[in-house]
Amino acid sequence: MSNKIIDGKKISSEIKEKLRLEIKKLKEEGVVPGLAVIIVGSDSASQVYVKSKKKTAEELGIYSEIFQLEENAKEEDILELVGRLNKDNKIHGILVQLPLPKHIDEGKIILAIAPQKDVDCFHPENVGKILTGGAVVYPCTPAGIVELLKRSGIEISGKNCVVIGRSNIVGKPVALMMLQENATVTICHSKTKDLKKYCSEADIIVAAVGRAKMITADMVKNGAVIIDVGINRSPDGKLVGDVDFDSVIDKVSAITPVPGGVGPMTIAMLLKNTVLAAKNIIQIYK
Ligand code: NDP
Repeated sequence: MSNKIIDGKKISSEIKEKLRLEIKKLKEEGVVPGLAVIIVGSDSASQVYVKSKKKTAEELGIYSEIFQLEENAKEEDILELVGRLNKDNKIHGILVQLPLPKHIDEGKIILAIAPQKDVDCFHPENVGKILTGGAVVYPCTPAGIVELLKRSGIEISGKNCVVIGRSNIVGKPVALMMLQENATVTICHSKTKDLKKYCSEADIIVAAVGRAKMITADMVKNGAVIIDVGINRSPDGKLVGDVDFDSVIDKVSAITPVPGGVGPMTIAMLLKNTVLAAKNIIQIYK
């Protein structure tokens, strides 16, 4: 593998190994971190994600439970389940797999999760703390991105960082986290005029759009670092990112591949958040 390629699989394995030891220590103190995953309906991609989260959690020694609800589940049933899990001492992290069916108000469900058990960091109270400080957990994909940069020895402070995409789960929080790391941050989106101009001045580009290979070599300056968050299917069925990897590879100083870059970090950060939540909850009730 070229030494320009940031190996998310390897870095996430190192993080998981460290977590395994932490979980072992917690168990010796009588605490088993617990994660509950709620999934509504039978969306095949969501089913794959949820199974993979449970499998990885259990490999590390985290207690985990999946709550599978029917596609036509009522909002009040989900709220009742969340309420029960909020009070369950075995559970330290609650994750509601998104998207939820159209008839369910996602915001209402997220708001019902106890903020100290919100391991996705979607609850407005936790989102606010990303802005004002004091956060215990950070959203999984953005946290994974910052971790990838730090563990690859890439300086963030003082760098021009362009984030493409402004979703609540990736673009906005990663922009805030890069700001917290003292980057000068620009957020671009679908209404941005002249994306190329912003990208070509960036030391670090975080692409979180969902459009196959939209970032091409002519948009990137020599020596830039690229974090490719996008997951797209190319016409031949292969997984590709938002960045045209083959065209930019000669220009960049570091880049994450798709697959094997940001993806594996997201699960590692979820499990890290579950352990952090467990430690925090024990602390609260000590
Ligand atoms: P969203 O669809 O919620 O957001 C996409 C963003 O891209 C929007 O802010 C949109 O702008 C912007 N955008 C769309 N078209 C353009 C354009 N032509 N130029 C500039 N900006 C544009 O997606 P997510 O943030 O949820 O996900 C982004 C990608 O990351 C997806 O491919 C997703 O699958 C992947 N992903 C990967 C994860 C991982 O673990 N690796 C985790 C989460 C997501 P506007 O706001 O104006 O509409």
